[in-house]
Amino acid sequence: MDQPTVLSHSVREKIDIAWGHCSESKGSDGKKQYRCLHCGVVYKGGGINRIKQHLAGIRGNIASCKKVPHDIRHQMQENLREIGKKKQQTQEELEQNTTVSIDEHMDEEIGSSSLPKS
Ligand SMILES: [Zn+2]
Repeated sequence: MDQPTVLSHSVREKIDIAWGHCSESKGSDGKKQYRCLHCGVVYKGGGINRIKQHLAGIRGNIASCKKVPHDIRHQMQENLREIGKKKQQTQEELEQNTTVSIDEHMDEEIGSSSLPKS
């Protein structure tokens, strides 16, 4: 219980469903490592998301779990999909905000350079 408090933004990650399927520990080099409770594979660094990709069987730079039950795998896939959706939404909101600020800026420019035409 002498671990430092995690940053507030990662509190949500701590209740992530993937935590029920892996254990976190510190390696000999002091870096965090995550062990899959189903097949026992250990990943150093990368965070909970890496374990989640392993459990979901996402193809890429990580091996998929061969021992995780199908329903859990499905759960992880759905979870990753939802996170992707949220990211997309945030990006759209950002784009909208940018458009608004550009409009304001244009108004300002027109106002300050409204010299009469000669
Ligand atoms: Zn595994």
